[in-house]
Amino acid sequence: RAKELGGRRVEVFAAHMHTDVVRRLELAADLQRALLENQFAIEYQPVVDLATSRVTAVEALVRWWRGSAFVPPELFLGPAEDTGLIVPLSEWILREACREVATWHASSWKIGLSLNLSARQIMAPRFVESVESALSESGLPPSALTLEVIEEMLVEDAEEIVNRLSELRELGVRLAIDDFGTGYASLALLRQLPVDMIKIDPSFVSGLGRDETLTLLTRTIVRLGHDLGLIVVAEGIERPEQLELLREMGCTRGQGFLVARPMAARGVDSLMHSDMPSMPSGV
Ligand code: C2E
Ligand code: MG
Ligand code: MG
Ligand code: MG
Repeated sequence: RAKELGGRRVEVFAAHMHTDVVRRLELAADLQRALLENQFAIEYQPVVDLATSRVTAVEALVRWWRGSAFVPPELFLGPAEDTGLIVPLSEWILREACREVATWHASSWKIGLSLNLSARQIMAPRFVESVESALSESGLPPSALTLEVIEEMLVEDAEEIVNRLSELRELGVRLAIDDFGTGYASLALLRQLPVDMIKIDPSFVSGLGRDETLTLLTRTIVRLGHDLGLIVVAEGIERPEQLELLREMGCTRGQGFLVARPMAARGVDSLMHSDMPSMPSGV
């Protein structure tokens, strides 16, 4: 009987694996089609100067509408990375976002653009050239572009990735560490990469005013960033209390649903030259 049970268990396991594989293949095929049919879009989330409430930059975030269903980036970025489709997708985001932000520059609104990178994108042949040509074709100055990396990207090919990013930085492009504080090597990364900015992970910001340890850690990261001469951005600001504490800590910039949600380019147009109406001002 045990054998029978064991056999059945194997069967169940195999069937589960089978659907998993099929689902992944379907997703890969859908991604390929989505790319050909321009189903991807970019939303921009404003980043503000916490002291003035002015928009200093926007972060480009990829969006996929699979028919009428929204697929969150967490669900398709992994498969896109595995299949290599992340490379053409990222190339499109890079060009499109540079082009859109350059139109704001042409209207004398000199905001920055933050882009999330993928490891495979950085390792693709001609990555550095593709960034250079997106900048020159759009007319966006290199100093307006910030490339965001997370430390997991440096697990493989670390040296080559650091070399390529350093090369871009020499052209005037800025570098940021995203999700700062969540990885084991956050501090080591500051030594490896010539970084201009750190973005404090929402898991710290969420605890501001509610959790003593998280509040203390946030304060310490802000101070560390400033001592190193870096721009410090707090991510995931959702409550006025968080905003107040971050201002009091002297954190320079912030991003989060309280400030503004990610929005289409047209939504960003309406914010041009204005401070954020949704943002409680002063402390
Ligand atoms: P991320 O770079 O850390 O981006 C911030 C994420 O937090 C975004 O999720 C944003 O919508 C969300 N967010 C912003 N403010 C708040 C808030 O106040 N509360 C909460 N709960 N969430 C907030 P999204 O757009 O789902 O992106 C998730 C991740 O996917 C990004 O994390 C980034 O790592 C990756 N990603 C997004 N777009 C791209 C892209 O174009 N290329 C690559 N390689 N990765 C991307
Ligand atoms: Mg990011
Ligand atoms: Mg982040
Ligand atoms: Mg993240």
